[in-house]
Amino acid sequence: MSKFVFVDKDTCIACGACGEDAPNIFEYDEEGLSEVALDNNTGTGAVPEDLEEELLDAEEGCPTESIKVADTPFQNKAANE
Ligand code: SF4
Repeated sequence: MSKFVFVDKDTCIACGACGEDAPNIFEYDEEGLSEVALDNNTGTGAVPEDLEEELLDAEEGCPTESIKVADTPFQNKAANE
């Protein structure tokens, strides 16, 4: 089953852990806050299957639970910012 992900930038503390766990998924904005590189952090693009393991590692490793993962697409989160 496909996975979808976005980062809640309101709670992200820019610790950098997710980028170490999943460098192919996460990147950082100019403030160091994480965002999903695959789909501009919208939560609407399916994560490629071969990246799902690192996605789940990053989700588990996030100290603020800012990495939101679901089996169905999120509504476009970036549009709400
Ligand atoms: S692990 Fe969590 S708190 Fe740390 S940069 Fe990534 S999303 Fe932000």
